[in-house]
Amino acid sequence: MEETDILVVGTGAAGLAAALALARAGFKVAASGALDTASNGRTVALFEGSLRFFRALGIWPRLSDLAAKIEAIEMVDATGSRVPIPKIVFSAADVGLAALGANIETDRLVGRLAEIALKTPNLALHSELLSDIAGGDDHVCATFASGRRLRAKLVVGADGQRSMVRAKARIGTRRWSYPQVALTALTAHEKPHRNMSIEFHTRNGPCTLVPLLRRHGAEHRSSLVWLMTKQEAARRRTLGADALAAEITSEVDGIFGAMRLDAACGFFPMMGMTVTRLVGRRLALLGEAAHAFPPLAAQGLNLSLRDCAALVACLEAARRRGQDIGAIEALRPYGAARQSDIALRTSGVDVLNRSLLSDSLPVEVLRGLGSFAFAKIAPLRRAIIMEGILPPQQVPTRPARPAH
Ligand SMILES: Cc1cc2nc3c(=O)[nH]c(=O)nc-3n(C[C@H](O)[C@H](O)[C@H](O)COP(=O)(O)OP(=O)(O)OC[C@H]3O[C@@H](n4cnc5c(N)ncnc54)[C@H](O)[C@@H]3O)c2cc1C
Repeated sequence: MEETDILVVGTGAAGLAAALALARAGFKVAASGALDTASNGRTVALFEGSLRFFRALGIWPRLSDLAAKIEAIEMVDATGSRVPIPKIVFSAADVGLAALGANIETDRLVGRLAEIALKTPNLALHSELLSDIAGGDDHVCATFASGRRLRAKLVVGADGQRSMVRAKARIGTRRWSYPQVALTALTAHEKPHRNMSIEFHTRNGPCTLVPLLRRHGAEHRSSLVWLMTKQEAARRRTLGADALAAEITSEVDGIFGAMRLDAACGFFPMMGMTVTRLVGRRLALLGEAAHAFPPLAAQGLNLSLRDCAALVACLEAARRRGQDIGAIEALRPYGAARQSDIALRTSGVDVLNRSLLSDSLPVEVLRGLGSFAFAKIAPLRRAIIMEGILPPQQVPTRPARPAH
């Protein structure tokens, strides 16, 4: 039977990033999963901390041609609040950076990470689904859909919200849903986005435009994440491309002129999930197998990349101590290190989302005061920007090993 140090199950952005980081840290890694490279209008805004993670791995130069700079994020209240809520602009210049981050089409990011993985020493990439997993004393035995079997000292579950790895380890979850669906789309428009992301906060949640690179002959492009009621999502699913584009143009007040759809759209029901623990015997969870929440403030994959960096740091420390990397004692520091960051992002997104859905006056007053403080008090604004783009939980990643 084939053997490896670490099996990463799931080859979404989080699983591939983890596999690359672990292989570059010198572990023998196998990664397995179906590559989701079909476009569904989804992009990921990755902030400075995530870009530093990719730079430290030495792979940013192979991703940067996909990335559109985000220099500022503008938040505009469109809830019809009874309390005046000022516009807030979070700008890279506020914190002395050239950009807050970069926006990348998710399918292209996954495709490019897979290409890099295929050329990475210590890393074997397989496009097979896991069908079973069984633990032994000093290894885990994984069986794939093809019948292939593999022994590993440690399994990393990066297999998404419905994680089989998590279920097999009997790790509990807490799940909840929101009365919203996110419509995702890539749009082309008449006017330039000036490297600016714009969030319109409506009573049904944010409607956000994020800059994209020019492509397909379209000069000005942005991605859209528009949270709406389930009923509105069901109606909009039936619209033709032109009618839907007209509704998008109207929702964003025609800010970039007339818009058209540049690719297939996606519809994603909004939910949240936390897990009772991140580690088990010969097992660690990361990415959406470990946490999920709505795409407000673009936190999901940024959080997952911090999981990856923390796991690598934890396993390197175990290796230095001569510990078995699959032993629960070796893995506990990873679980402990990630708890507060995950809890903070999950609850922060939940509060922000529910504050938009609520029409209670006290909530409107609080939102008004908060927005006023961020708009007027520069040190407070700088603090929240840094918490979003380069949080203290960011694990420093070692410089990349020289390319082989
Ligand atoms: C509308 C929307 C917008 C978002 N915008 C942002 C953003 O701007 N910034 C940001 O940071 N985050 C954002 N996110 C979150 C981000 O997209 C996700 O966190 C990230 O893509 C999830 O990555 P993942 O690899 O953890 O999970 P997934 O992408 O779900 O990958 C899981 C993988 O596991 C595989 N798998 C499942 N079962 C098995 C099995 N049995 N065997 C092998 N493989 C298996 C699946 O095929 C899949 O490839 C957004 C999310 C949504 C819904």
